[in-house]
Amino acid sequence: MDGLSPAAPAPRAPGRWQIATVESIEWQTPSVKSFRLALPKWMPHLAGQHYDVRLTAPDGYTAQRSYSVSSSPLDEGTIELTIDRLADGEVSPYFHDVVTEGDRVEVRGPFAAYFVWRGESPALLVGGGSGVAPLMAMLRHRRRAMPDAPMRLVYSVRLPKDAIFGDELAPDTELTYSRLAPPGWEGHTGRIDEAMLTGWDREPEIVFVCGSNAFVEAATGILLGAGLPAERIRTERFGPTGG
Ligand SMILES: Cc1cc2nc3c(=O)[nH]c(=O)nc-3n(C[C@H](O)[C@H](O)[C@H](O)COP(=O)(O)OP(=O)(O)OC[C@H]3O[C@@H](n4cnc5c(N)ncnc54)[C@H](O)[C@@H]3O)c2cc1C
Repeated sequence: MDGLSPAAPAPRAPGRWQIATVESIEWQTPSVKSFRLALPKWMPHLAGQHYDVRLTAPDGYTAQRSYSVSSSPLDEGTIELTIDRLADGEVSPYFHDVVTEGDRVEVRGPFAAYFVWRGESPALLVGGGSGVAPLMAMLRHRRRAMPDAPMRLVYSVRLPKDAIFGDELAPDTELTYSRLAPPGWEGHTGRIDEAMLTGWDREPEIVFVCGSNAFVEAATGILLGAGLPAERIRTERFGPTGG
């Protein structure tokens, strides 16, 4: 089998657009939904990679955004994108308010070679808000493919209702509520601090930080200040503003 015989599927290239079908939609929080897309030309991604999504209006106007894959690459044939609805946004409200199961959307990917987990451990994941999406791909993939590899997620949300993937977070997650914790909460409150990032009894081989610009700046500043070598820290910024 050389991959070029007539019966072989068309070669898959991440740069090519394809039409995905929305298989299911799951509410994660009041402003975040996960979309499970079935891809005709699916290929396994690396945990941390993203896809581009393109919307085209009847007059030909297009809008394109990137969304991280939040599912494990072991979910053959599908990817999950987890999208935070920005009230004044263009693409994320469309997904939330218009897209329904069975709809078709244009995607291409997977992309990125830098913000990807390739099995390094111990791995520390640091997420703020919807920045947890690519980190969840890493966590899910580690649980299925390398369950003994040490991995820990430090996750900051503002309010209890903002915790994405709530049911799946324990037991390898440290959660902090930066504005208001639920009644009876005995865990962390306030912004991520040095104690949260350095309190693990493992020396991280690699650290992935993802969230708004402000969140990524703050978290990397703490890590560098604590003496972690810069080459062990990988960052992904979701938004142009401080958020
Ligand atoms: C590599 C990569 C991966 C990404 N993965 C995800 C993901 O998994 N889930 C997800 O929800 N988003 C993700 N994003 C962000 C996403 O691409 C869009 O930027 C976001 O959905 C806003 O698009 P929009 O069209 O709704 O808003 P826009 O019309 O682009 O922007 C509307 C307003 O919101 C501001 N804004 C734009 N983006 C953000 C933001 N992220 N936070 C705060 N303010 C913002 C703009 O400055 C503007 O004022 C990712 C971005 C990158 C670069």
